[in-house]
Amino acid sequence: MTTHTSSLTVHQTARPHGFPTRAHFAFVEAPVPAPDPGTALVENLYWSVDPYHREAMDVDPLHVPVEGRTIGRIVESRNPALPEGAIVLHREGWRTHAVVRPEQARRLPVFDGVPLSAHLGILGGTGLSAYVALTRIARLQPGEDLFVSAAAGGVGTAAGRLARLMGAGRIVGSAGSAAKVDHLLREVGYDAAFDYHDGPVAAQLTAAAPDGIDVYLDNVGGDHLEGAITALRPHGRIAWCGAVGQYNSPDGPPAAPRNLFDIVEKSLRLEGFLVRDHADAQQELYDFAVPHLRAGRLRSDETVVDGFGNIVDAFLAMLRGDNTGKMLVRRGAGPLAADGTGLASTPRSGAAAAS
Ligand code: NAP
Repeated sequence: MTTHTSSLTVHQTARPHGFPTRAHFAFVEAPVPAPDPGTALVENLYWSVDPYHREAMDVDPLHVPVEGRTIGRIVESRNPALPEGAIVLHREGWRTHAVVRPEQARRLPVFDGVPLSAHLGILGGTGLSAYVALTRIARLQPGEDLFVSAAAGGVGTAAGRLARLMGAGRIVGSAGSAAKVDHLLREVGYDAAFDYHDGPVAAQLTAAAPDGIDVYLDNVGGDHLEGAITALRPHGRIAWCGAVGQYNSPDGPPAAPRNLFDIVEKSLRLEGFLVRDHADAQQELYDFAVPHLRAGRLRSDETVVDGFGNIVDAFLAMLRGDNTGKMLVRRGAGPLAADGTGLASTPRSGAAAAS
């Protein structure tokens, strides 16, 4: 049984040109929905805010709830496949409460000693993106040298940590601040790292990896991709995961890379992928990562923002680069609506009985 009578949902209300703002979103209050037969009511605990949400802002319908990966607890059920108390992952997104059918929610396995938030970080779509990029797309081999862009973000920190455990050679990362570079070197296990604001990426990458690289995990595109093509050795591989460097550009895609023909000259392989096409790798990731997490050899780097009312600010902060590791929003102990709208918090009367 939920302790709330009203719920909050975030809608996108306008299209951005360039960098989005709070004005492109609205919090919509409504009664907590009652589950119909065959469904269950989920009270959400953690939300993921992702770079792809910025791309979606250009195309997704307005005035409907923003979708996204979310973890919640079933508080009222009318389906035995979704028992009360179960913790589930679903994609109903930026809302405090959701009604789900069994095919919309996956019960999360409980791994003792592993925090729940890791299911949106190193064990979630973020970690799976890094895992798939390294194993299935780039097919990283022990001893091979790797470059990762946006290395201090969710995918980037996961990639560095997983690659180290897979026996990678030299691991080089780029990030947007000196503090992030320090985190990569001291905490994540990168061998070299640079701040891409400090000079041309190609020159900084050459200095960090003077003998070249075998694999590039591209999260940024543009000048990073151009620099990596230059640094790659013959028969190197590029796993193209994202292009966060261009999502907020009002001018469209960048001119770089201008050296695409080097892909032919050096017999390189460039392959893009979407993690949603690799759900079958989820168990493989659990099998690989969970023993390392439990033994303390692996961790989920996360920046956690408290309060659902801060979810839009958390999203904008992630686009600005304020996060280290995966950016998450946690329901927290305080009011759900940290923007001051507040939520009624008396038990909902007349709720449908679980069946
Ligand atoms: P993230 O890296 O945790 O957060 C985004 C980061 O992008 C920010 O922290 C910021 O860090 C960096 N950034 C922002 N503007 C930039 C710019 N102009 N140039 C360079 N870096 C910039 O996000 P994530 O969820 O792990 O995603 C990373 C990338 O993977 C994104 O491109 C995303 O679209 C992609 N992705 C793809 C898939 C897939 O299925 N293919 C799945 C998940 C993610 P700095 O401070 O370092 O700038």
